[in-house]
Amino acid sequence: RRILETVTNGKATVYRADLEQAIDMILHIEIPRAGSIREESLQALRNLLDVLRKLNPLNKPGKQLLNRLYDYVKNVKHSLSGEDFQNELRLQERKLPKIFKAQRFVGCIASRPNLRGFTCSLWTLFHYLTVQTADDNTIEPGFILEAIHGFVKNFFGCTDCVNHFLEMARRRQIWLVKNKDEEVLWLWRAHNEVNKRLAGDSTEDPKFLKLQYPSAKDCPGCSINIISDTQWNEPKVFSFLKDVYHKKNLNNYALP
Ligand code: FAD
Repeated sequence: RRILETVTNGKATVYRADLEQAIDMILHIEIPRAGSIREESLQALRNLLDVLRKLNPLNKPGKQLLNRLYDYVKNVKHSLSGEDFQNELRLQERKLPKIFKAQRFVGCIASRPNLRGFTCSLWTLFHYLTVQTADDNTIEPGFILEAIHGFVKNFFGCTDCVNHFLEMARRRQIWLVKNKDEEVLWLWRAHNEVNKRLAGDSTEDPKFLKLQYPSAKDCPGCSINIISDTQWNEPKVFSFLKDVYHKKNLNNYALP
């Protein structure tokens, strides 16, 4: 209850606990569920781990784990199964101090069961990655969106989400985005499109309505509402996203 009150009353904040939970669930649930990982899905897994090992906000053992998993997957010749990945993950985790300490979602907390949680943390992680990539010149422009697309297509367990996202990616020409700033904005626009489609849906948490982001309260001057349409000041939105999703501004609330 205390977390819920803090989050609903606070301003836009990214919580480290949510990013940790997203990575934890990707590694322990989403990837192990895969059958045979080969060709396109093997490349997608390499891309995802490459991005995560470089940009993750985890502790030192967490960074070591991701580097070891990346090396393992990079050296796979033809294919591996989700179970092979899980075995390697367990093996490496046994050799390292405890990594995943977040016991709960914070910014992604729900007011009722079965809402928010993982999918919310996944969006949060995706935005975080698009913002962080600007500080890493080993990652080429276009690569973050490619890695996100590859993960969604090959590993994300929500079938409806996958189908909608892939259709949107085609329509919004994800492959043409070859500039890191544009990648931040592409994902922001895409997420707002999903928010609009799902507003009022049964998946909406009444304490966290699916509004266009950022709200005028969080970012005065980012938008003007003309009748029911929102017009954005995109340079301002961009600065807002770069600030809120920047590693230096992560909030450690509810972490030990
Ligand atoms: P979320 O939409 O999950 O957002 C998480 C947080 O991100 C918000 O609390 C806010 O702080 C921030 N945020 C919101 N909008 C933006 C933005 N535009 N830019 C930057 N930050 C923002 N559910 C379905 O029912 N059908 C679908 O087709 C579907 N497709 C999905 C596709 C993907 C790729 C993902 C990751 C999820 C999808 N979901 C879908 C789940 C859905 O989008 C929400 O994650 C879920 O309903 C929980 O919503 P939420 O209120 O926690 O906020």
